[in-house]
Amino acid sequence: MKKLEQLYEGKAKKVFKTDDPELYIVDYKDDATALNGLKKGTIAGKGVINNRVTNHLMKMLEKQGIPTHFVEELSERETLVKKVSIVPLEVIVRNIAAGSLAKRVGVPEGTKLGSTVLEYCYKDDALGDPMVNEYHIAAMGWATREEMETIASYALKINEILTAYLKDLNIELIDFKLEFGKLSDGTIVLADEISPDTCRFWDSVTKEKLDKDRFRRDMGGVEDAYQEIMKRLMGE
Ligand code: ADP
Ligand code: UDP
Repeated sequence: MKKLEQLYEGKAKKVFKTDDPELYIVDYKDDATALNGLKKGTIAGKGVINNRVTNHLMKMLEKQGIPTHFVEELSERETLVKKVSIVPLEVIVRNIAAGSLAKRVGVPEGTKLGSTVLEYCYKDDALGDPMVNEYHIAAMGWATREEMETIASYALKINEILTAYLKDLNIELIDFKLEFGKLSDGTIVLADEISPDTCRFWDSVTKEKLDKDRFRRDMGGVEDAYQEIMKRLMGE
């Protein structure tokens, strides 16, 4: 598969066209940003880990009936994916209060939620990805009510599958962010990534943070945490 012109360079990945109009190549970088782009840095080896972890989890989800954009891992940092038109939402799933939710409702981080929480943020860096609800999404035409029903049911199913899978690896899934897209025939599929950049992973026993919060909060041990996640998931 030939890598053609670069379409987009984001904060963590680059996206390239290929000679197949329905396929893109994503290339994972070591660049890291936080606080809506205010904090910038690099995490050595992050691109390789996020590429491999994302593909591992997407393959596992596909086997359990979740359609994804994954096609084939091409190299350490590059993956062939189905081209989608991204639904411009960050779909956030929460099991335990942390980060912005803990702040917003004034509960200590680590408070178990009585039931799973789904949140939507409108993907717009200039606006700081504001939280929106289903009425905004329908009114603005970002997705139809029917598409949102599919997205919400996939997000909850993904949470069940990932929570159970990670529990066996002594990882507690606190919360995570998903992105969905539409194939040219309108089918909704899971896109983007699932990695320590986009999930909060805590060690089940020690509650040690094994994710991007170590970078966001200047806790040190960032690279080791990403390595540890790859090791627990993939044995290396
Ligand atoms: P950001 O845009 O937030 O800086 P990234 O650096 O991760 O994020 O850039 C990757 C971009 O590619 C994101 O905007 C994401 O929505 C988009 N994307 C992910 N998967 C696909 C896909 N299969 N087809 C088209 N775009 C995708
Ligand atoms: N998240 C993400 N990208 C974003 C915002 C959040 O991947 O732009 C993930 C984040 O890693 C966490 C979850 O979504 O797993 C919930 O994040 P939160 O709303 O608590 O935001 P934060 O505290 O990161 O600002």
